[in-house]
Amino acid sequence: QAKQAGGRQLVVFDPVMATNFQQTFELENELLHALQTQAFELYLQPQVDAQAQVRAAEVLLRWPHPTKGMISPALFIPIAEKSHLIVDLGWWVVEESLKIAQQIQNRQIMLAINISARHFRQQNFVSHLFYLLNQYQVEAQYITLEITESLVIDDIQDLVTKMQALKALGFHLSIDDFGTGYSSLAYLKRLPIHELKIDRSFIKDLPADKDAAALVEAILAVADKMQLRVVAEGVETQEQADFLNQRAQLLHQGYFFARPQSAQVWLKTWQSSMQGLPRMTALAKF
Ligand code: C2E
Ligand code: MG
Ligand code: MG
Ligand code: MG
Repeated sequence: QAKQAGGRQLVVFDPVMATNFQQTFELENELLHALQTQAFELYLQPQVDAQAQVRAAEVLLRWPHPTKGMISPALFIPIAEKSHLIVDLGWWVVEESLKIAQQIQNRQIMLAINISARHFRQQNFVSHLFYLLNQYQVEAQYITLEITESLVIDDIQDLVTKMQALKALGFHLSIDDFGTGYSSLAYLKRLPIHELKIDRSFIKDLPADKDAAALVEAILAVADKMQLRVVAEGVETQEQADFLNQRAQLLHQGYFFARPQSAQVWLKTWQSSMQGLPRMTALAKF
């Protein structure tokens, strides 16, 4: 900027910005290194029905950093999304998730995988996903792909085409953080989705907050009429769970039922505790 102005203009040095820039740059390099050395971990957080039965689990990425402790995906995903890194990281998550899905699909537990917009927009997204699905012998009906409303703002036709292809292959599609994006209700009509995930910000103030309650009820009514499954994100109290259970058949995901935990731990738990359980009916009924 200073150069463009012929060097006459003074650019104020902002130490805060400089630190952020450097930190971002450092993190980016470390992310790349972490990917190359397979340093990421997958956690799972169960999604349970009104009887507190586990029907599905969301895959949540974790980065155990050598010096900074466990780094939240809320921090490093946005950094990865600024570069092609998110694509490689995204495929790593998908591949590892399919290995998990292979082990739990006979227990009728679905797996929900977060997909970044930039990853989803890759030209080979559908074909490569299908290739991996076959490689790990997973049935698509056990996989839900969570995408956010940010995808909807550009090239909706490409989005619809891809989603239709995924649906035809048997995948379930979910709108994550529903209600927080730039969305309009109109796209719900156009997109071939199976599920809405109500964002935690709406669940947080239930049941006391009248506005939050009204919004959640409206979302549930729309979902019901459109025969969409609903997952409530961030259920932390009995009161929230009761409020939701009175109104709709939905899945709860939140600390009240279970915190995210290493996938290995959940796999062991499910393998030992669910052996005797009858096969559950398909989740599609929700
Ligand atoms: P998200 O997809 O909306 O995931 C739900 C987030 O809510 C998770 O945060 C989860 O730990 C948290 N959560 C669940 N129940 C509760 C609760 O009762 N109380 C509170 N306070 N929080 C709860 P997490 O694991 O930190 O992930 C943050 C975000 O990072 C995710 O939000 C998702 O957008 C992104 N993310 C995580 N893993 C991946 C991934 O593999 N790929 C991509 N592209 N994004 C990911
Ligand atoms: Mg999610
Ligand atoms: Mg979410
Ligand atoms: Mg959220």
